Amino acid sequence: MFFHEKTYDLNELAKMNLHMHSTFSTCAAREMILKDMVRTAEQAGLEMIAITDHNYVYKKNATAAQRLELLEQLAETGTKIKVLIGAELSSYDIGKFADDIETDNALDYRLYATNHYHQDYWVHPEDKSPRGYCKHMLAIMDKVIESGRADCLAHPFMAKYITECGDFHNVTAAFTDNEIGDIMIRGYERGVAWELNVPAILGDPVFFRRYFNIGREAGVIFNFGTDAHKLINIDTYQFLPELKKILY
Ligand SMILES: [Zn+2]
Ligand SMILES: [Zn+2]
Repeated sequence: MFFHEKTYDLNELAKMNLHMHSTFSTCAAREMILKDMVRTAEQAGLEMIAITDHNYVYKKNATAAQRLELLEQLAETGTKIKVLIGAELSSYDIGKFADDIETDNALDYRLYATNHYHQDYWVHPEDKSPRGYCKHMLAIMDKVIESGRADCLAHPFMAKYITECGDFHNVTAAFTDNEIGDIMIRGYERGVAWELNVPAILGDPVFFRRYFNIGREAGVIFNFGTDAHKLINIDTYQFLPELKKILY
């Protein structure tokens, strides 16, 4: 389990960037080599980063091998920044995990995606209304929390990959405050942090303002990540003026 000290001060939270993809993720830019990612984070003044590559269902056990390679590259950098070698893992249906438990246990940081509905293996609910998707996402998150596999949930509640019910903002608008609060408290009690995912917040400011306020009132832990796929998106501080306008 990985928890930092509880804070709701974005200046403090921005000292970490716990969501970034190296070239082990096919969606990342070719420049996302560990030593250059670390150097960029140092220049930005970050204190802690996590490498969170996707695990691919067709590449069994690749994540654990990649971790060893990244650790070797990390040792060569000699950096003083705390670097967690983790992964963005997948729970693609209620109680269904794309990775094996050995992979999870080998990682420093287990960031779980519960809403990658654009992936072809992802299971969709039978009821394809906004409420149907809300209930499906909540049930997936509930099982991930119960499983004890996750340190943090990646872009939780985000609906931008759902194209089945028109404008995706209809989906996030259909979560009730009680649903959001209850699952966030449950995560906190089980040692699971909630991600402040920069692109998710920028893409759905109305919802993520609610999310931040409900989570803050409930006293949960938030982790900060920019979901960087390019070096230019590793610096967290560049996003703070816009995030403060949205969240405060
Ligand atoms: Zn993701
Ligand atoms: Zn990601």
